[in-house]
Amino acid sequence: MKITADYHVHSTYSRRNHGKSSIEEIVQRAVEIGLEEIAITDHGPRHYLFGIKENKIKEAKEKILEMRKKYPQIKILLGVEANILDYRGNTDITDEVLKHCDIILCGYHIGVLFSTPLDAWKFTVMNKIGRKNKKVFEEMKEKNTEAVINAMNKYKINILTHPGDKIPLNTEKIAEAAEKTNTVLEINNSHSHLNAEEIKIAKNYDVKFVINSDSHIKDKIGSYEKGLKAAIEAGLDLNRIINLK
Ligand SMILES: [Zn+2]
Ligand SMILES: [Zn+2]
Repeated sequence: MKITADYHVHSTYSRRNHGKSSIEEIVQRAVEIGLEEIAITDHGPRHYLFGIKENKIKEAKEKILEMRKKYPQIKILLGVEANILDYRGNTDITDEVLKHCDIILCGYHIGVLFSTPLDAWKFTVMNKIGRKNKKVFEEMKEKNTEAVINAMNKYKINILTHPGDKIPLNTEKIAEAAEKTNTVLEINNSHSHLNAEEIKIAKNYDVKFVINSDSHIKDKIGSYEKGLKAAIEAGLDLNRIINLK
């Protein structure tokens, strides 16, 4: 069993030194460990802590084009890991992102400029209260799920990253929407979502899965062991994981 691609890697195009390795270092490492494909996916521009600056996306793409010439033995993609900005499902998948990116990942993150103060309040404070209050937890879980599904319906998202990380989601409804929108669900090797329990629920729907490293430094690229373990524990048919061979 071997991983053939890693579609979730952060680079030095992130703000504040969030990704430690340059695009070239990432590509070199990917070649070294024998990957067939790699995607550089820094956070979308509305992540004020770590996102790529919107005016840097074009430059990143030029770097990618240069790398494609220099390392023809590997397929190199530019992507973003976009952010959910509100409960209507708006994200920072902007025209500039769409113009230059080959692959779109999207997930929920903190450190984001949410669309309105009310969205910020619900995503952060209400979900925090939900950790101690069962009723609020269940309410927020459904609201969060609606936000993610709205985003999936609004945009062509290739991979939904770490569903269930940081805020609770209804995995059944997410998987149902992923089936309808042809969105691949991520088993994130760093964030432990989807976890085995969630995979067990999601596998009942006609969806594909991907195990990504979500690495922020080149040495972690292509790591998948924890994700694979969760998939096996869930009894998932491993042929449904698009980057395993
Ligand atoms: Zn993420
Ligand atoms: Zn990430």
